Amino acid sequence: MSGSNSHHNGYAIETVDLRRIYKLGDQEVHALRGINLQIASGQFVALKGRSGSGKTTLLNCLSGLDQPTDGSAILFGEEIGSWNERKLTAWRREQVGFIFQSLGLLPALSAYENVELILRMNKVRAKERHTATTECLALVGLTKWADHRPYEMSGGQQQRVAIARALANSPKLIIADEPTGELDSKTGREILSLFKRIVRERNMTMLMATHDSLVDDYVDQILHLQDGQIHRIEIPEAARLEQEQPTIVSAVEALSEEVPA
Ligand code: ADP
Ligand code: MG
Repeated sequence: MSGSNSHHNGYAIETVDLRRIYKLGDQEVHALRGINLQIASGQFVALKGRSGSGKTTLLNCLSGLDQPTDGSAILFGEEIGSWNERKLTAWRREQVGFIFQSLGLLPALSAYENVELILRMNKVRAKERHTATTECLALVGLTKWADHRPYEMSGGQQQRVAIARALANSPKLIIADEPTGELDSKTGREILSLFKRIVRERNMTMLMATHDSLVDDYVDQILHLQDGQIHRIEIPEAARLEQEQPTIVSAVEALSEEVPA
């Protein structure tokens, strides 16, 4: 097993010439045609591109749901191409939080139970399960809704349950595939600012496929996909402004450190 950290360079995600070819009978579909990307830890990144451009395929290759045909994907310093099924399963369960458009909440379970489920699967002890579940529901503002079942909640609230569930195991990486696709724009914004807050507060790395132009105000970076390739990397205006702030703060801190006590 590749326990080696020899590739580690501080990036959460790095891919080199990543390719995914689907074979359909005698046809080949080139879903990813050489993706090269580098995402620093703690970044909130959007993947944009029209339907069929390869967004879902890329997310699946990085989350361990699918495996690339060629090229490499290095996640937190480890080349995942060399992982066996057991390691991939552990990665998905323990290190990745998934948020899909079809939320996949279990209708018979309450919000609390939906969030807690992954922790039960991971054999987390009862006390820790309770702490983590309660915290995650609080983080998404659903403390009072813990005992409600999904059908008793609005679309936005259900999406919050799905987010809390994705966070329950404190993943390093959050993968979201069109998470705001079915929400009205007000709810969409609430969810996006929640994502941004979570990424900042918990120092998680988040990768989100979307068509939604609302995301420009929230993400650090936009990777534009076209025909299975990244054809443009964009730093949205809002992120650029935000990135200027810490520079000023750290400049002031650096100055004050120079002042002798
Ligand atoms: P997006 O998420 O941007 O809409 P996808 O990653 O789903 O794009 O699809 C990229 C391309 O790969 C499309 O041409 C799609 O038809 C094809 N594709 C995706 N999944 C499969 C699959 N399981 N088998 C065959 N072709 C697939
Ligand atoms: Mg898709």
